[in-house]
Amino acid sequence: MSRILFTDVLVVGSGPAGSATAALLSTYGVTNIQITRFGWLADTPRAHITNQRAMEVLRDLGLEERAKTCSTHQTLMANNVFCYSLKGEEFGRVLSWGNHPLRKADYELASPTAICDLPQTFLEPILLEAAASRGTSVRFNTELIDLIQDADGVTATVKDRQSGENYPIRCKYLVGADGARSRIAELIKLPMEGQMGLSGSMNILFDADLSRFVAHRPSVLYWILQPGSNIDGIGAGVMRMVRPWNEWLAIWGYDVGPGERRLGDDEAKQILHKMIGVDDIPIKIRSISTWTVNNQYATRYSNGRVFCMGDAVHRHPPLNGLGSNTSIQDAYNLAWKLKLVIENKAAPSLLETYDDERSPVGKQIVTRANRSIEDYPPIFDALGMLAAKDPQEALAAIQSRKAPDETGKSRRRKLNEAIRQKNYEFNAHGVELNQRYQSSAVVPDGTPQPPYRRDRELYYQATTWPGAHLPHFWVEQDGERKSTLDLCGQGRFTVLTGLGGAVWRRAAAEAERRFGISVAVVSIGPSGCDALDIYADWYWNCEIEEDGCVLVRPDNYVGWRSHCASTDSESRLLEVFGRILGLREKLVELAACGIREPA
Ligand SMILES: Cc1cc2nc3c(=O)[nH]c(=O)nc-3n(C[C@H](O)[C@H](O)[C@H](O)COP(=O)(O)OP(=O)(O)OC[C@H]3O[C@@H](n4cnc5c(N)ncnc54)[C@H](O)[C@@H]3O)c2cc1C
Repeated sequence: MSRILFTDVLVVGSGPAGSATAALLSTYGVTNIQITRFGWLADTPRAHITNQRAMEVLRDLGLEERAKTCSTHQTLMANNVFCYSLKGEEFGRVLSWGNHPLRKADYELASPTAICDLPQTFLEPILLEAAASRGTSVRFNTELIDLIQDADGVTATVKDRQSGENYPIRCKYLVGADGARSRIAELIKLPMEGQMGLSGSMNILFDADLSRFVAHRPSVLYWILQPGSNIDGIGAGVMRMVRPWNEWLAIWGYDVGPGERRLGDDEAKQILHKMIGVDDIPIKIRSISTWTVNNQYATRYSNGRVFCMGDAVHRHPPLNGLGSNTSIQDAYNLAWKLKLVIENKAAPSLLETYDDERSPVGKQIVTRANRSIEDYPPIFDALGMLAAKDPQEALAAIQSRKAPDETGKSRRRKLNEAIRQKNYEFNAHGVELNQRYQSSAVVPDGTPQPPYRRDRELYYQATTWPGAHLPHFWVEQDGERKSTLDLCGQGRFTVLTGLGGAVWRRAAAEAERRFGISVAVVSIGPSGCDALDIYADWYWNCEIEEDGCVLVRPDNYVGWRSHCASTDSESRLLEVFGRILGLREKLVELAACGIREPA
């Protein structure tokens, strides 16, 4: 081995998880090297639905505008269409991704950002450019082969795939964002539950102008249910818009039993013509690839100094569009903790909270995405596709749903019910936003967790309860409309308070002095406060008194709150910081000054 490189954090992978981590670390001033096996980034537009939580991370990184420029707007994601073919009969639609008039307000109220369609081929370069331009040293064609850990760090053996040479990189911490076939999760023996490779899917990426079939019912996903089509499975697939309306990705299931399915361009075109329902439309095939449906998650995300994230620890089908979004959230959770620990401002135990906070989310999204697969057979069943002995019988059953008799009536009811159930895939706003963390990086305020007033998978419920995400409200600062989220983040803690909360300012200054961390203080209220509560949304919804405080972590999650100010506010805030940062000795120091140890 000819050379050795040193860095604080080695990030393995340049997908959404790895690139978000590198961008965040560099923004926070943490030295890092990012390696990736290939010579460039994603070459197929896999992830696309980019939800508000992911957009909020991009906003915090100052990348939201670029992401918006490269994305398709929420309004063009409006329908999920179920049809025989794009030209053929339509069975039903779901107004999706917050586009139903009844759901628009939910989405708008939840975040300063909007859900959008941002293909992975556009997202990754945005993140990687931010990372590299802010300090990440990026190495393409570089593959992690092995790693060993000791008390002080990790030594990774990487291979330069161009020269064939192996060399070591020594780091304090290693982030394994190396995807669903993660070598790192295997090397550090992360415990996994569930199964990989349950079924196969093929992606056909192609160019074709399909505007005349879709522009009147704009959508990202057109579900084709076509018994008798000469493709594997029961005759169901999806046509996904990549760019409106001339770049597409067709996805069709195949039987994994005989092994990977190979498809030539001519066969692919035949499939596409059937899905479109017209056989003379010009098509240019760009690529054909396959992937498998997985149902697996890690029950622990780290081992020692190695932390895995993204598909490395949650492996699931793309339904609900949660993979890349969750990967970016994993990165947002871990990056600030790494920064504080590397800077010796927090104990290594802070890093353990990454596991505690993110692994339940991984389990939840893997389960949800797989449950969304199970919600398709009732649609096929309602159309009579499952019971039919052959395609002719299936086609007759599909037609029978239009008959004015009892059979037709029953089919129509079943079909409408089954399609309505897909709201749990296409409008699962709660699944996207409702995460509430429990760990030692969240200090309870003694109040019980607020119960969900509506279906927690469909509806997001804002609260400042410790462990929940900071609610978004519009306020005004220096003549500019800002979100409460804009007042926080940027790699530092923030104390939000109101009129009469001066004590929190003193307490925050003391915390900065004692712990060497950065704590912003923003008062929200009438004129004279740092941010104007112009619509009184904070006043009515912050769930604290005006002189209370909400302590917001760098990842915009509530770390603690106090209902009101009191004579011991300062010592309480210091104690909270001591607990979040895992600094027992600081607490002991505080105790020596007469400040109580936490229970
Ligand atoms: C058809 C399809 C549609 C999807 N749609 C959505 C969607 O709408 N929304 C959504 O949120 N998600 C979606 N997903 C899921 C999403 O693509 C993944 O969840 C996401 O890519 C995971 O990101 P990641 O960074 O963890 O892993 P990956 O994107 O898989 O990246 C892994 C990285 O690690 C590198 N690597 C691997 N091994 C090594 C090694 N040994 N050494 C060095 N580098 C290595 C790879 O080169 C790559 O850069 C979809 C997936 C598919 C297949």
